[in-house]
Amino acid sequence: MNLFVFNSLSGEKELFKPIVEGRVGMYVCGPTVYYDAHLGNCRTFISFDVIYRYLMHLGYKVRYIRNITDVGHLLDDGEDRMMKGARLEQLQPMEVAQKYSNGFHDMMRLFNALPPSIEPRATGHIIEQIEMVADILKRGYAYEKNGSVYFDTLKFIKDGNPYGKLSGRIVEDLLSESRDDLKNQDEKNHPSDFALWIRASDEHIMRWNSPWSVGFPGWHLECSAMSTKYLGERFDIHGGGNDLKFPHHENEIAQNMGACGTAPANYWFHTNMLLLNSKKMSKSDGNTISPTELITGNSVHTSKAYSPMVWRFFTLQAHYRSTLDITDDSLQAAEKAYRRLMESMRILKNMQLDFAKESAAKDETISSLIAQMYQDMNDDFNVPKTLASVFELCTIINSVKDGHISAQSISELKWKELITHLEQFVFDIFGLKDENDNNDSNTIDQLMKLVIELRKTARENKDWSSSDKIRDVLKEAGIQLKDGKDGTEWMHVN
Ligand code: AMP
Ligand code: ZN
Repeated sequence: MNLFVFNSLSGEKELFKPIVEGRVGMYVCGPTVYYDAHLGNCRTFISFDVIYRYLMHLGYKVRYIRNITDVGHLLDDGEDRMMKGARLEQLQPMEVAQKYSNGFHDMMRLFNALPPSIEPRATGHIIEQIEMVADILKRGYAYEKNGSVYFDTLKFIKDGNPYGKLSGRIVEDLLSESRDDLKNQDEKNHPSDFALWIRASDEHIMRWNSPWSVGFPGWHLECSAMSTKYLGERFDIHGGGNDLKFPHHENEIAQNMGACGTAPANYWFHTNMLLLNSKKMSKSDGNTISPTELITGNSVHTSKAYSPMVWRFFTLQAHYRSTLDITDDSLQAAEKAYRRLMESMRILKNMQLDFAKESAAKDETISSLIAQMYQDMNDDFNVPKTLASVFELCTIINSVKDGHISAQSISELKWKELITHLEQFVFDIFGLKDENDNNDSNTIDQLMKLVIELRKTARENKDWSSSDKIRDVLKEAGIQLKDGKDGTEWMHVN
């Protein structure tokens, strides 16, 4: 079966053909760790988690790289995001990075997203970034001004390179949009040029020696340097949210071509945005729901708490290239559907019936639904369509349980096939877990560890309403928290 993927670079669905048969190299831009990730960030990483899981399901050996941005990502006013975080919280920038990396990992575990194969940090790859700047300079696509180095977009374009192809922009339109180093705008030859290396001002704490100045790398450079280091000059898939197409990914392509003469990835995948009140969920607009707010119900946008798996299920209901609007009603609908699905999975596991020994009447319906699931996943990872077939199979399961379909109309072999495929799709590929499976005490332990960690973070941030809410909701569920010298313990109280 062939896998077709939508390549943002060509704007078309293309047959997926990895460079090395059986192996896939995938790079996804990770979080900038200066704030608690919100559900929007989370949606993007869950989308890539499902893509990663499906590629592995197809038998590919996947090297999945997802970086951590801990330097160089500037705000519109030119301040480094990490430094801003550090200033506001009176912490070292590295403390800020560690704190929010921990929080990000907790969130990913909470939503059952698999860790990447390698999670490189920008600050751990300064040497590679400096080498890349030197290579770009050597090939004539960058220039130095007062200790800072800029990418020469005009030279790049004049030489016939495709600057703007990914984001579909023409260079004149870019004039007003290159904001990554507004402070040093006047040093650039052209407004669309962007910083590769930035000379640090006296108050800038994050700084490294380089041939040009004591400074720090531009944001886009880390992904070019780290993808090249771990996946080679050319690899299969590069992904990220579609808000990263420009300038981040466009500049990454320019840097890679400027340094090695080749574009980094064959296929570019871009996920669409999670919306709240029909607007992009975004930290800068204060238009967010955090994972803690979601699972405690402590948000003005929701009427109650929703469990991590309800949220994961919710994100599966839209195609990764479509926007998804989060509303209380749609979360409630997702909760019902998720519970129905898990109920069917439990019935499926425990049903002992007398199925037919030979092929039987309903076999073909089951086979064609399973085939449809693969067809839809192979059509650019169409999870919502696949889910529709999953629910049709659930209807069959429930009908068998209720006696509306006789067990004799399904063969034993087909029933086994149904179990195998449904479990693979629901648990391994979609990454859902049954939160009500009481036998799974390990899951409860892990969830409690996370909840305790989230409460600790809330308390550190003096977010008393969230921490109280966590304690109260747990109490209602018959779980008591006990804070002690060695941390917080939990116990069942009834
Ligand atoms: P950042 O930490 O800001 O670099 O963002 C991390 C990832 O989250 C990027 O791939 C963004 O494109 C993605 N992202 C940010 N906001 C949203 C949103 N509202 N919906 C989906 N993805 C988002
Ligand atoms: Zn990146």
